[in-house]
Amino acid sequence: IAERLEGAWKKLRGQDEISPSNIRDALRDVRRALLEADVNLQVVKEFIAEVEPKAQGTKVISGISPDQQFIKIVYDELVAVMGETNVPLIEVDTAPTIILMAGLQGTGKTTATAKLALHLHKLNRSCLMVATDVYRPAAINQLTTLGNQIGVPVFDMGSDANPVDIARLGVEKAKVEGINTVIIDTAGRLQIDADMMGELSRIKETVKPHETLLVVDAMTGQEAASLTHVFNKQVGISGAILSKLDGDSRGGAALSVRRVSGTPIKFVGIGEKVEALQPFYPERMASRILGMGDVLTLVEKAQEEIDIADAEKMQEKILSAKFDFTDFLKQMRLLKNMGSLGGIIKMIPGMNKLTDEQLQKGETQLKRYEAMINSMTIEERNNPEILSSSPNRRKRIAKGSGYKDVDVSKLVGDFQKMRSMMQKMGQGDLSKIPGMLGN
Ligand code: GDP
Ligand code: MG
Repeated sequence: IAERLEGAWKKLRGQDEISPSNIRDALRDVRRALLEADVNLQVVKEFIAEVEPKAQGTKVISGISPDQQFIKIVYDELVAVMGETNVPLIEVDTAPTIILMAGLQGTGKTTATAKLALHLHKLNRSCLMVATDVYRPAAINQLTTLGNQIGVPVFDMGSDANPVDIARLGVEKAKVEGINTVIIDTAGRLQIDADMMGELSRIKETVKPHETLLVVDAMTGQEAASLTHVFNKQVGISGAILSKLDGDSRGGAALSVRRVSGTPIKFVGIGEKVEALQPFYPERMASRILGMGDVLTLVEKAQEEIDIADAEKMQEKILSAKFDFTDFLKQMRLLKNMGSLGGIIKMIPGMNKLTDEQLQKGETQLKRYEAMINSMTIEERNNPEILSSSPNRRKRIAKGSGYKDVDVSKLVGDFQKMRSMMQKMGQGDLSKIPGMLGN
């Protein structure tokens, strides 16, 4: 009973704090969730090493466990790390805005080029797509086909031309024709290789793009981190597009890419079709990576129900014996919302050694209390003392609530006893409370 009481008491004053010992399980779960989502191991380690100390000492909201609260903190931090809000594509004042696409072969660069063009086209930004992948015969065809499909022109010079020249002349053409945005599709290799990086760098130096977007396949997993690191170091990127998120990947690459490059993920690809492009939403991605939707919903619910500042005020009131009927009502409603009226019932003198059956009775008793408190004036609620000395007031309350005078007298008496008991408990002196610790 003492333990349960203490638990109830802690809940009441919301005094649990996150400490290394009470989030051990959650830490393990979070680490596992991130790894299962294919976040890079090193990124996982660093991320947890940052979040954990930040979380220490955080007060745990009533109604949830330290583990649950910690998971919510991790989620918030994930959202923060991946960028609070969606970062839009750059658009420069003096057209054309130049976007360079980068990435390994097969990640979805050409598809993403067309997806972006369609996206901008819908925003009434005129586009030109530039085909610089001269190595695979079908690559230029692929882009022109997509261009026809979405009604966006493609600039190409066949497969004998030099990719740097194609890019440069493509941008020239866009300038001359007053086109808003040029998107340069490039060739990829199956792996990072010096030729590819060299060519990409030369195109970049020549056309000086406003955006260099790395297309990362969400299925890449762990390697997304090293890949991003190399592209960013050797070419320099301004953001990323995470493709193939329609697959069963949990999208951990998003966190890796963001952490390693410090640049935002601007879009996600969610299918092979040209329409299958969405802005990147950090909240959605954080939920997907963490995969603990149930806990997050629970915590959010608890957060809605309690205001931490309120709980602290309440505690002060309890300690200084200023706890009044208004507070009592508030606590009662709070606990009722959280489905644990038992906690507060045990605070009532003589009700601390209860069976479930008796608890039921206690709940009925609390409902009576509530009805009587509702019939009190604000002054009476805030100054319970005035009721002890005024039979007339008690009579009025009894009438208003449909109970007897003796019931109101009992409420006033019980409340006073309870208040002094709470005060003692608040000072940590449980042993002084008769009947509380079996004494
Ligand atoms: P590139 O070599 O980087 O230009 O890659 P492609 O654009 O040619 O795409 C390679 C393959 O991935 C093609 O079969 C695309 O249809 C497919 N693909 C691209 N983006 C997505 C996506 O977001 N979801 C799915 N399911 N497939 C995609
Ligand atoms: Mg391609």
